[in-house]
Amino acid sequence: MRLCLFDDYRLGVVEGDAVYDVTGALDAHDTGFATPFWVRLCREHETVLPRIEKLRTRAEPKPLTAVTLRAPVLNPSKIVAAASNYGDHVQEMAPRVPDGWMLDFDIFLKAPSALAGPSSTVALPPVGDREVHHEIELAVVIGKEAAHIDEAEAMDYVLGYTGLIDLTVRGSGDRSRRKSYNGFAPVGPWLVTSDEVPNPHDVDLRLWVNEELRQAASTSHLLVSIPAMLAHTSRIMTLLPGDVFATGTPAGVGPVKPADRVVGEVGGIGRLEVNIT
Ligand code: MN
Repeated sequence: MRLCLFDDYRLGVVEGDAVYDVTGALDAHDTGFATPFWVRLCREHETVLPRIEKLRTRAEPKPLTAVTLRAPVLNPSKIVAAASNYGDHVQEMAPRVPDGWMLDFDIFLKAPSALAGPSSTVALPPVGDREVHHEIELAVVIGKEAAHIDEAEAMDYVLGYTGLIDLTVRGSGDRSRRKSYNGFAPVGPWLVTSDEVPNPHDVDLRLWVNEELRQAASTSHLLVSIPAMLAHTSRIMTLLPGDVFATGTPAGVGPVKPADRVVGEVGGIGRLEVNIT
């Protein structure tokens, strides 16, 4: 199932070029920070997804072109992201990273307030002569509270997958600041439930800037696998339903400038098309 959020946070099922409004499958359509319906949907997906499927059969389709897609996640408690998780990206960063530790695999947090939709316009912040780079990534959405889990069971905690562009100010200083400006986490175009992603370690990632192909790789080259990352992270911080986990970016990162159009593609999932101003 392909779940999206559109217009005024309506809940939709995407099939082909159509979206079906299934908001009525929810107990409540509250979008406040304290009790967002989306987080409950993730936590209670085993009962809510069948209700969505049922309602979908009665819902009227709308063309996708007639709606505005939002990020297919809402109020996650955190966005966790992997750093240095593709060998070719680690190699390309080595000459420009003064601190060797930054080349080691690690996890960091990106502020949830950086979330943006899959067709958003991102205004570059004033960062002097520093570059802002694109990083295309496969993102995992958590479906079950995970604390101190084992790698062997970790995939049971995954609700689904989506795409994420991890916009990043290059240079020294803490990642959480350099990657958390408003709009620095475009996500989408929808969440594909894990039953429709046969092998998340065989997903093609592509990213173009103004039609120039900058990044092209497969998640088969992840240095640390998705279950290993989730198990590791769950021993540091409890992963909660609705949390987003960005799995890292391959080589080819580079600067974006005002007026650039950034298109990211995550194989089997969909495309993000972001305008930079
Ligand atoms: Mn990244």
